[in-house]
Amino acid sequence: MNNGNSQVRRKILVAEDDGVLSKGIEILLNNNGYSAKAAMKNESLSVLLRRQNFDLVLFGCGKPEEDLYLLGKIRKNCTMPPMIMINTLPEHKPEENGAAAFLGGTVEPISLLDKVQDVVRGILDTPVRCDCGNLLGIRKGRYLEIRCRRCKKTVRI
Ligand SMILES: [Zn+2]
Repeated sequence: MNNGNSQVRRKILVAEDDGVLSKGIEILLNNNGYSAKAAMKNESLSVLLRRQNFDLVLFGCGKPEEDLYLLGKIRKNCTMPPMIMINTLPEHKPEENGAAAFLGGTVEPISLLDKVQDVVRGILDTPVRCDCGNLLGIRKGRYLEIRCRRCKKTVRI
């Protein structure tokens, strides 16, 4: 039933340790046309990210020091899709830490859905580059695995 990219149910991973918050966000997203999955934050997130092609990750960053350390470890083990940091503050520099967007302490459903939509729209026609700088292609909807011709690394776009 994919008549155009807007019809695809985007897969979103909600990585947040506050079970009430992550469950709430999971339900909110599932009720609004997304396919969301809540998970605890730990290193096994990289396994989940490798097995399933998520279009977006919401990453809870309430304790920046340990959360950013964990994020670094996850990044080493898998290719992260675009990320929105939630439960965080501007002084924790979400964009410098790879987030496409962020949401502050209290997560308002409307602002969350707006941010998710913005980032998901951005995904649609984004030129994707390998870490080596080589242009791999244009990201449209589903992720594909592409082998970089320059450095031979396999990258998900
Ligand atoms: Zn490359």
